[in-house]
Amino acid sequence: MRLSRSFLPTLKENPAEAQIVSHRLMLRAGLIRQTASGIYAWLPAGLKVLRNISQIVREEQDRIGAQEVLMPTLQSADLWKRSGRYDAYGPEMLRIQDRHKRELLYGPTNEEMITDLFGQAVKSYKDLPQMLYHIQWKFRDEVRPRFGVMRGREFLMKDAYSFDLDYDSAVATYRRMLLAYLRTFQRLGVRAVPMRADTGPIGGELSHEFLILAPTGESGVFYDAALEEQDWLDEPVNVEDPKALDVFYKRVTTPYAATDEMHDTAAWDAVPEDRRREGRGVEVGHIFHFGTKYTQSMDVTVSGPEGTPVYPEMGSYGIGVSRLAGAIIEASHDDAGIIWPDAVAPFRAVIVNLKVGDETCDAMCEQIYNTNTEAFLYDDRTDRAGAKFADADLMGHPWQIVVGPRSAKEGRVELKRRATGERKEVSVEDALALVL
Ligand code: ATP
Ligand code: MG
Ligand code: MG
Ligand code: MG
Repeated sequence: MRLSRSFLPTLKENPAEAQIVSHRLMLRAGLIRQTASGIYAWLPAGLKVLRNISQIVREEQDRIGAQEVLMPTLQSADLWKRSGRYDAYGPEMLRIQDRHKRELLYGPTNEEMITDLFGQAVKSYKDLPQMLYHIQWKFRDEVRPRFGVMRGREFLMKDAYSFDLDYDSAVATYRRMLLAYLRTFQRLGVRAVPMRADTGPIGGELSHEFLILAPTGESGVFYDAALEEQDWLDEPVNVEDPKALDVFYKRVTTPYAATDEMHDTAAWDAVPEDRRREGRGVEVGHIFHFGTKYTQSMDVTVSGPEGTPVYPEMGSYGIGVSRLAGAIIEASHDDAGIIWPDAVAPFRAVIVNLKVGDETCDAMCEQIYNTNTEAFLYDDRTDRAGAKFADADLMGHPWQIVVGPRSAKEGRVELKRRATGERKEVSVEDALALVL
């Protein structure tokens, strides 16, 4: 993208309405704009971030055998009356009437819809297990939408739903999903710590929330540093082997980790002091096994091995895709701006032309830009160098390729790594090899 022609409205001043750093930086870097309370438009660079996050989420869901679908945002109230949640859900649900006075709602989540779709299609235990997911906009009429996309009213969520014949099989599914989540967050360049979550009136112990440490997080978190040190990408777990899943699950759930709601001071005191990590956290994911709650209330069965009807065991698994854009910035920024992890950055690098109009500089920039016009943002504006550097730091591209007249004559550029501030002069070829 050429900066001179792009829709990338950066702001020099901090917008007064933004209370936290990620919200300020998302507005200042031209990623989003608010169009109504808690509702945002994603501008070109912001949309690229959203797509990059979605793609990693998608790859990790596919990897454990979940299948992508796309359910609508609008749902019929009748579905929710069948499960009994229509009245129970409360004012967070946006209720809509169509011209025939039929009741609809903008989905805050999709358990009812997926259970109904599943019930229409799957009749036999032989077709189990099934795992389905989609990445779709949700609406929750939050009392206090705030912090930009971190607590929006309309927000993008990946939600997955699983159906298993029995409890043991459902537990294996839950563990596979736990692993997929750990891998997803690690690939996104953030550490999200899984913490036992309250399962509410349904009970059981199978619910975990994933939290990213950030001072503005809404939950207090307490965890053992051991949970930060695991590398889930380098240690692949054989998800088909129940024993391996068991070992993996113990490894994740043995070290202490809890939000303030579930905190147990006696267990906390038993964690060696040098390993105690305490702070605030942002919930970026939540996985839940809830058994037959919806299959029973909506009366969805499959015929079991003995021919008698069985209520499948279900789980649901959410990731806050749009919230993650903010949460990643909360976890990765400095005074100058965003520091995008490589995997989610809207552009791999910005090409900073220090002397637009100079034949050598222009030619070199064009040459670099044309190797991959998707991956590069080409700052071809005639602004001062200082302003260009400030915008480059603000937008947080992992690399800055600086092209000036002196070094360009020798076929060289200055390469800056945003995360470390490290700079070095290299040939164009070496720069391309490092960046792409
Ligand atoms: P919270 O505790 O923050 O209100 P939740 O527990 O109500 O979230 P879930 O129903 O578990 O949310 O939804 C799954 C994921 O969707 C959450 O982990 C979070 O990442 C994301 N999410 C929930 N509400 C919002 C929101 N208002 N804006 C952005 N993302 C959200
Ligand atoms: Mg909520
Ligand atoms: Mg929550
Ligand atoms: Mg939750």
